[in-house]
Amino acid sequence: MAVKLPIYMDNHATTPVDPRVVETMLPYFTDTFGNAASRNHEFGWKAEEGVERGREQVAKLVGATPKEIIWTSGATESDNLAIKGVAEMYREKGNHIITEVTEHKAVLDTCKRLEKDGFEVTYLPVQKDGRIDLDDLRKAITAKTILITIMYANNEIGVVQPIAEIGSIAKEKGVFFHVDGVQAVGKIPVDVNKDNIDLLSISAHKLYGPKGAGALYVRRRNPRVQLAAIIDGGGHERGMRSGTLNVTGIVGFGKACEICQEEMPVESARLRGLRDRLKEAIFSQLDEVYVNGSMTYRLPHNLNISFAYVEGESMLMGINDIAVSSGSACTSATLEPSYVLKALGVGEDLAHTSIRFGIGRFNTQEEVDYVAARVVETVRRLRELSPLYEMAKEGVDMSKMQWNVH
Ligand SMILES: *Cc1c(COP(=O)(O)O)cnc(C)c1O
Repeated sequence: MAVKLPIYMDNHATTPVDPRVVETMLPYFTDTFGNAASRNHEFGWKAEEGVERGREQVAKLVGATPKEIIWTSGATESDNLAIKGVAEMYREKGNHIITEVTEHKAVLDTCKRLEKDGFEVTYLPVQKDGRIDLDDLRKAITAKTILITIMYANNEIGVVQPIAEIGSIAKEKGVFFHVDGVQAVGKIPVDVNKDNIDLLSISAHKLYGPKGAGALYVRRRNPRVQLAAIIDGGGHERGMRSGTLNVTGIVGFGKACEICQEEMPVESARLRGLRDRLKEAIFSQLDEVYVNGSMTYRLPHNLNISFAYVEGESMLMGINDIAVSSGSACTSATLEPSYVLKALGVGEDLAHTSIRFGIGRFNTQEEVDYVAARVVETVRRLRELSPLYEMAKEGVDMSKMQWNVH
């Protein structure tokens, strides 16, 4: 059976908008176009109704109350608001923040900015499986610590952190706990109360909603979190985030959350089945392939594999009818290997030849089988051209080789 090409399997980067979400959004571009802040006419009220329905739907998915949801433009903004907002508001109390080395840049760069501003940041290392060590966390907390920010699940390797345990440590020490929940919310159960989360960043376009819509959950009681705003203006969102609300985006975001909540048990089981099928097909046909990060504590739809003895660029070219991500980030001049894989202790070569597969709602078994076949065929072809692979097969110990470097 023929599959339609190219195949999209990069669902950690973004997801297509679910057609049911699009349908819910459409009237809000035309008939119901009002400004949700217009309090004195029907157009405004209708828009506000849509916004408040969205707030309920987003809140429900993570066990929050609607009042605890603040709308943003996406999770980059949510991460900024959470971290800078706490830093500025509680500066008197302390200037120490704890995060980890494998966070998304939206968190890392925000922390770097605060360091320039006089804050001290501890970047916890991760273990080989990609998870932080809870003892490291306990030891890092000081009387000056005001915030711990650790992501729920990593966007490259899909590794899920021990969030509930971190949450109880934070609570016990009286430190606020922010979680970048982008990759986890809508995919696995996330509950701000069970997990003791005080602030949670969410993005619509990672859960089959539209781009440009995000939210920050801000705990209102037990403890109440206060934030300094980073965008000033009309005082929208209880002063925490001014700006006319993206009504269509919010309506779509809400619907996307509702669908995720209803379909999560069935969907995650199906995607896990597809992911395991892909892994099995690759591992049963190729040697010298390695999974990056824990297979136990992992999102069901993520697979990140390094293929030894192939070159990263050639690998991507070989499978160019499949949209995936690689562990090499092309920056302006250099080809930097992924800092996430580096943090796991993955060597530079293996980091360069890693592929992230992000399976999503609209992928089929036929597509998975096609991807597996293409990957296997490409790796075999490239290895036939690789003298290193041949030598390894002949039992030459590469670590003892003498290289002539000119
Ligand atoms: C995509 C992503 C973000 C950024 O979200 P945007 O809504 O695109 O700004 C932040 N954190 C993680 C883990 C992500 O995967």
